[in-house]
Amino acid sequence: MPPFDFRITATAGAARSGVFSMPHGDVETPAFMPVGTHGAVRSLSVHDVAATGGRLLLSNAYHLYLRPGDDIVRALGGLHAFTRWRGPMLTDSGGFQVFSLAKYRVVTEHGVEFRSHLDGSLHDYTPERVMQIERNLGADVIMQLDELIAGGSEESASRAAMERSLRWLDRCQVEFDRLTREGRADGLLLAPVDGIVDVHPDDERVAPPQALFPIVQGGVNPTLRRESVRGILASGDWIGVAIGGLSVGESKPDMHATLEVCEPLMPSDRPRYLMGVGFPEDLVEGVRRGVDLFDCVAPNRMGRDGTAFTPDGKAQIKQAAFRTDRRPLVDGCACEACTHYDRAFLRHLFMSSEPLGQRLLAMHNIAFVIDVMAQARAAMHGGTFSAWSDAWLRRYHREAVVPVG
Ligand SMILES: [Zn+2]
Repeated sequence: MPPFDFRITATAGAARSGVFSMPHGDVETPAFMPVGTHGAVRSLSVHDVAATGGRLLLSNAYHLYLRPGDDIVRALGGLHAFTRWRGPMLTDSGGFQVFSLAKYRVVTEHGVEFRSHLDGSLHDYTPERVMQIERNLGADVIMQLDELIAGGSEESASRAAMERSLRWLDRCQVEFDRLTREGRADGLLLAPVDGIVDVHPDDERVAPPQALFPIVQGGVNPTLRRESVRGILASGDWIGVAIGGLSVGESKPDMHATLEVCEPLMPSDRPRYLMGVGFPEDLVEGVRRGVDLFDCVAPNRMGRDGTAFTPDGKAQIKQAAFRTDRRPLVDGCACEACTHYDRAFLRHLFMSSEPLGQRLLAMHNIAFVIDVMAQARAAMHGGTFSAWSDAWLRRYHREAVVPVG
């Protein structure tokens, strides 16, 4: 069996349910990927993440390249051995972080020169270098380096970035193939650890099986989006395709329209990944428009800030109404916060600034969006997806101040 495979098991209009198989395991789609930017989902252990139902973990090449260094991660056995996450992983190239975090950057055809947001050191990020970094990290799915521009940019700037992203994709692919063929550069060699690092030193230069995903760009301009998809499909037979550059300040109707432009042009038999989108309502709208994979830091971040997702919209955990409320946060939710604690105690944890409260709400929000994806899959298999998604969105958008238990 090939290391990567995607099987669609049910459809409903543009929506699809399937199974994406990767070297480290299978993921049922549509799926939400918890984000472990630095190799860990903030405040959660790998066991916590598994308990939320998370199966595919996202990490970030920019952050891991700067700290601890992709060569160190590789010497420690790769991202899986380093983080102890045994399931499938995906690394983002860090293009977004270079554009959003770096204090100083110069973008040329060659690549991006930037100063680290950690210590000001100067770095040269090229498509080739990014492939070397992501090959060293060893996630199952790796992303191309693309050029990002601010939402609402002029069409000419949007076109230039989209076209450059296509040229950078070609360079990524050439380097990816070279590393597959010739092996990785000589790296640091550490003694293997039994049961954790199972790669023999003689095989260490062999890059693990990975899938390189291209990224569709073009802002909210339908012409540019179409050209981007066509350019990507003309340049390779990709295992999956990502849509980037959304959820950067455009309106929801613009995001939905852009997905509708891309959907019919994308291969129906390959997974589609909508990058950086993860609010519950965006997931349901994305699934309706043929998206299979999502990621976002928002569920975790909002949970740590005291905002909980519920079927009736977002709820503030500190609200006075919860002071003596003995009900679970969301009735029927299988997460630790909802099965072990009541609203009164969760509120108390936040009022007392106890870190446990942040951890529990982060787990709840991640479990919540993962469960919404499970509901979507079940509805597709049961032939009720259209009615389910209509009802789900209607209820969620009521945005009740106090959720109905
Ligand atoms: Zn819960």
